Amino acid sequence: MHEITLIPGDGIGPEIAEATREVLEATGVRIEWEVEEAGVTTLEREGTVLPDRVLESVRRTRVALKGPIATPIGTGFRSVNVALRHELDLFAAVRPSRTLPGVPTRYEGVDLVVIRENTEDLYAGIEFEAGTPETAELREHLRALTGERVRDDAGITVKPISVTGARRIVRFAFEYARANERRKVTLGHKANIMWFSDGLFLEIALDEAPSYSDVAFEEMQIDQLSMRLTHDPETFDVLLLPNLYGDILSDLCAGLVGGLGLAAGANLGWEYAVFEPVHGSAPDIAGRGVANPLAMIQSAGMMLSHLHEIDAAAALAGAVDRVLREGRVRTPDLGGTASTREMAAAVSKAVRRRDLRD
Ligand code: NAD
Repeated sequence: MHEITLIPGDGIGPEIAEATREVLEATGVRIEWEVEEAGVTTLEREGTVLPDRVLESVRRTRVALKGPIATPIGTGFRSVNVALRHELDLFAAVRPSRTLPGVPTRYEGVDLVVIRENTEDLYAGIEFEAGTPETAELREHLRALTGERVRDDAGITVKPISVTGARRIVRFAFEYARANERRKVTLGHKANIMWFSDGLFLEIALDEAPSYSDVAFEEMQIDQLSMRLTHDPETFDVLLLPNLYGDILSDLCAGLVGGLGLAAGANLGWEYAVFEPVHGSAPDIAGRGVANPLAMIQSAGMMLSHLHEIDAAAALAGAVDRVLREGRVRTPDLGGTASTREMAAAVSKAVRRRDLRD
């Protein structure tokens, strides 16, 4: 029996979380869920988007499955998603994108994994609002230190990238490549412009790469990498990216293989793991029962592997492939008319059928 924290989230979160639970049940893996609300619901009820008990629960169970959570704008609250990654030190986001059977896309044979640094960079949350005394003081310091003048009406976001943070994610990416029999790591950066943040990230990668001689390494400026990904994505394997570029290219890679409704992800640290789809709360379709649950279902598949439930993980992946290949049940984002529930039922049935065959 695995004890797992379930954070359904908001928007389409509860709908796809329910669908995912149904599929997990079909795998036969025994899970005791600790359901914890966070996001818009708790903001209205408890005055916070991330109650302490949510973090306490994940610290106890060590593993969470999470739906998307909206970042309410103008409430003074920062993103719950970013806060969770910081609080639990989930420094590595792992986001696979591969061509799936029966999903029409522009490209064939895409099979890549984004490894995104999750805690530093422009997402560190160090910001100075335009027009405040703190920002004026910072501007003065910057002028004294660098001779550069920042405009009086500027807001400022700080981009820290540390040796420690860079080294652990670089090693993680190479270790991941090795463990998953992947042949190449490509680092995306803008080291020619940001010498001391992206440049440092690149320097650490160049320092570590020779220790992994069985994995090829290449580095590329992020703009060039973006172009190449839309041109010949099948030539890439593991993409190692600092936080902001990782966020952007995750969605780009999802688009290469059929869209956000299919993009799964894991946030991993030394102690805790939180599995969640790449997409957000999709307010435009929330409550209509038409969201594609496959991104969250496949995130749950990654969770099963993490829990060493290898047979169940394979059964789930096989069932998703089978439903997509057959093409009878498709949600609107994939050109069909099926509901979230119908998709969950089809995948659950395919999981069970596989059980019978075995
Ligand atoms: P989004 O990912 O929610 O939606 C983008 C588009 O993709 C929308 O048209 C949506 O309908 C579609 N889409 C997304 N998931 C889908 C699914 N499973 N099935 C079918 N269609 C799907 O991005 P957004 O609209 O920019 O963000 C909405 C909210 O989610 C924002 O508050 C944002 O901050 C938040 N967000 C949360 C996370 C997270 O929880 N990890 C990630 C990204 C965005």
